[in-house]
Formats: sequence, structure tokens, C-alpha cells
Amino acid sequence: MASTYDFDLFVIGGGSGGVRAARVAAGDGVRVGLAEESRYGGTCVIRGCVPKKLMVFASEYRDTVRDASAYGWDIKEGPFDWPVFQNRLNTELDRLEEVYRGLLANSGVKTFDCRARLKDKHTIVLDNGEEKTAKTILIATGGHPVRPDVPNADLGIVSDDIFKLEKLPKSILIIGGGYIACEFACILHGLGVEVTQYYRGAQILRGFDDEARGLVAEAMRERGIDLHVGTNIVELCPDSEDHAPHVGSDAAMGAPSGQSSEVVNPGTDAQAGSRGGPIRVKSTIGGEKVFDVVFFATGRVPSTHDMGLEEVGVKLGRGHEILVDDYSKTDVDNIYAIGDVTDRVNLTPVAIREGMAFVETVYRDNPTPVDHDLIPSAIFTQPEMGTIGLSEEAAAEQEEIEVYTSSFRPMQTAFAGRDDRVLMKLIVSKKTRVILGCHIVAPNAGEMIQLAGIAIKMGATKEDFDRTCAVHPTMSEEIVTMRTPTRTA
Ligand code: NDP
Repeated sequence: MASTYDFDLFVIGGGSGGVRAARVAAGDGVRVGLAEESRYGGTCVIRGCVPKKLMVFASEYRDTVRDASAYGWDIKEGPFDWPVFQNRLNTELDRLEEVYRGLLANSGVKTFDCRARLKDKHTIVLDNGEEKTAKTILIATGGHPVRPDVPNADLGIVSDDIFKLEKLPKSILIIGGGYIACEFACILHGLGVEVTQYYRGAQILRGFDDEARGLVAEAMRERGIDLHVGTNIVELCPDSEDHAPHVGSDAAMGAPSGQSSEVVNPGTDAQAGSRGGPIRVKSTIGGEKVFDVVFFATGRVPSTHDMGLEEVGVKLGRGHEILVDDYSKTDVDNIYAIGDVTDRVNLTPVAIREGMAFVETVYRDNPTPVDHDLIPSAIFTQPEMGTIGLSEEAAAEQEEIEVYTSSFRPMQTAFAGRDDRVLMKLIVSKKTRVILGCHIVAPNAGEMIQLAGIAIKMGATKEDFDRTCAVHPTMSEEIVTMRTPTRTA
């Protein structure tokens, strides 16, 4: 019997997870509608992974040009032209958004460029005034960055804003020690911005392997990022002095800016902060400093506000995330949720897998729980960190382990006179010999961990790695040539 609903499936959210589920379901003959209030592609494509990675590439050329002279090239380092890069970036994002729109249209998904909220468990109200009904609803609205609760937090920017800056600031303070804070500290430093980073905990990248995150922190400091751990902000205020103290210099809040008639921060972006102009920051370590821009990278929360979710019976957790079972089903039997809005593992490829598992479960008569175990990931700092499985600390709590490490100066940068170090690390179960964790800090560690991840996901043992022949000369050959444990625990 034909369905009496307008759609078999209505997806709210046109990011990576929602688009994948919608178009695959539509390809199976399911009648699918999808609403997106912003741009198609979502966080990853429009204001996350993709523009971030392009900025990573942009930021690495300065080192490449500097190293080139050691290799005999006569290349002069010039200034970085943000508008040139930004125009190209915007063109690329427009292109990608069109690709996403095209994928949906070609698979037969009917799209609505508006915000959607639930009226009841089968009815969606669009902010263009239309109402649509659907047998099944999939929420894939992602998350959004949050500012901490400090006075004048609205003076600072968040990651969504960084791609839209009219000019690069001369100086920036980044608050936070997670993925976004550390990646942008490295990117902006590479683009020539004076970067200061405050992290409230003892070491950045909490939750990752201690030795690996320690090396990343050390490398960031050596490159010139002014990283302060055990430090947080107390308040922000506009720095209204005509002649502000030198950016990054100590200054007393409200005290006269003093002596210099020098106009500070030449080239400063007056529009960079959300209110424009330099910002005076009071920190927990005492004293005050002035920065052109303050960037909050203090976490993201699921986008579940004002969607009518709780009214129809969808339960939310303490962090506003949608609570789902192993099959991404909410407490309402026809409403499912995938991706960052469920705050399970907040990574694009995971959202895509959750979308695929939803399609298998609901439309292919193949109930598929989402596998969240042994997910490889990378943090695009400089150097990058690639990681899969347990940290040394977590593994040692679980069972007896052997730890294999190799730390060295890689050939390419050592030849150019750089002191950069690389870390290759394997955590091995003493009992089963299975590799429980692999942590790589190196240029292109993201590329390496993707491949090591296949073997580790397959359950490879240390001996499987040992009998794999090295590719010489590469950095990653160390992963199969470490013979003696560095320590046991
Ligand atoms: P994270 O949760 O990773 O980091 C948030 C940081 O902000 C932490 O260091 C946290 O400190 C700190 N923080 C939180 N609240 C406050 C506060 N009130 N005052 C000061 N500091 C605070 O979030 P991100 O925004 O960096 O990233 C969000 C998610 O996006 C990640 O979990 C990841 O899943 C994903 N992502 C993945 C990337 C990748 O795969 N390469 C890249 C970027 C994002 P504390 O440690 O003490 O809690």
C-alpha cells in the first residue's frame, strides 16, 4: 500500500552524515526529503575539515621554501597573501557545495533550503511555512562551537569565523587545548601570525597518548607558538587605548598604555575580533595582554536547540546530545539520529558510517550496529599526530603491555638543518601480542595511520608487523623495524 506520508524519509541536516544517508536511501527507491538551513556539506565541507586542511597546506609552504635553499634552490620567501588564498578557498567551497547539491538532486532527494523543526513524530515544519510528513525522520544537524562563560566572551571568535576574517591578525590568542585549538595554533603560526595559546589543563590534547602529545607540544613551542598550560582567561575587554601596548606584551588592565607613541599592530585587522579592534585579556596566571583576535576553541555542542525534539519524546543527554541506541534509533521508534548531534565519536567518516548503518538497518533489512571501535584519526598539527587504539596509559590500566618506540630526526628536514623529531610508537599486549595502539607524530602521520589502521583493525600482532618488510628509506619503515621493547608496563 502506498505511504500516506509526503516522504518515506525526511532528513534534517545536509552535512556529511545526512547527505550520505539521504542519497543512498534515495538510490534504493526511498522517497527522501532533506532540509538544510545553511550550506550543503555541513561543518566538514564548509567550516571544518576541508577549509582547515587547505589552510594547513597553505601554512606549510613557508617551511618548504626555507628548506628548499638547503637543497640548492634559490627561492625567496615572500609575504603570505590572505585575500588571494581566501578567494580561492571560497571558490573551492562553492564548488564542493554544488557537488553536494548535485549528488542529492541526481539521486532524487527533494531538498528544502530552510530550517526544520518537529511538530509531531511524523510532521516537520519548515521555516518557509510548509509542513511535510514522513514515515521516518533522521536528525543529522551536527554541532556548533561554544564560547566559555567569561565576561565579554562575545569579543572573541570561534572556528566558524576564522575562514571569514577579512585580514589575518598580527597576533591571536587561542583558548583551548583540543583538536581545533592545536591545529589552528599551528596553521596561523605557519601563516605568520603571532600565536599565543592558553590551555587550562596540564598538557594539550587530553586523552591522547602522553608521549605523543608531549612531543607535539614541544614541537609547537620550538616553532615559536607561545603555549601556556595551566592557564585560562578570566575576562576580556576591548582595548580602547589609542596607542595600545605592543601586542602580546604585559599591560595592566585599565592602566595607561604608557610611553610609546608608536602605532601598534600595523596591519591589524580592525574587523578581526567580532567587535573589532584589539582585545585586552586578563588570565589566571596574572597580568594582562592585548591581542588582535581572541579565538575560542573550547569545544562544540550538539545542535538540538529549538527543534521540538523533547516535545515529541526524543531524549537528550546532559550535553544536549540526542540519545540513541546501537542502531542510531532515539526513544521515538521512527526517529533516528546520526553524527555529531549524537556526540558519540565526532568525526566525519564516523557520521558517514552511521548514515550507512542507518540505511542498512531501516531500508535493507540488515540491522547494522555502528562499530565505534579502533577508529584511526589524525590531528593536523605541525607535526601531525596519527593515532589508533589505546594510549600507553589506557592500555597499561587494562593489561600488561610492551611499548615499542622510535624517535628520530627525519632525513628530509634534518638535511635542511631542522631539529624536528618524529615518533613511532606501538603498544602491544604481552598476552595476545595484538597491537592495542599505534601513535605516530610525523609529517603526514595522518596518511600513515590510515594504512597502519587497516592492519590494526584486522587484529594484527606485533609479529605480523615484524614480518612485514620495510620500505626504505621512509619514516614509516620504523613501524616494522622496532625489535626491542622500550619498556614494559
Ligand atoms: P575538544 O573537546 O577537542 O577541545 C576543547 C578544548 O577546550 C579542550 O582543551 C578543553 O579543555 C577546552 N575547554 C573546554 N571548555 C573550556 C572552558 N570553559 N575554558 C577553557 N577551556 C575550555 O573540542 P574542539 O572544539 O577542539 O573539537 C571538537 C571536536 O571536533 C573534536 O572532539 C573532534 O571530534 C572534532 N575535530 C576533529 C578534527 C580532526 O579529526 N582532525 C579536527 C577538529 C575537530 P579540557 O581538555 O580541560 O576539557
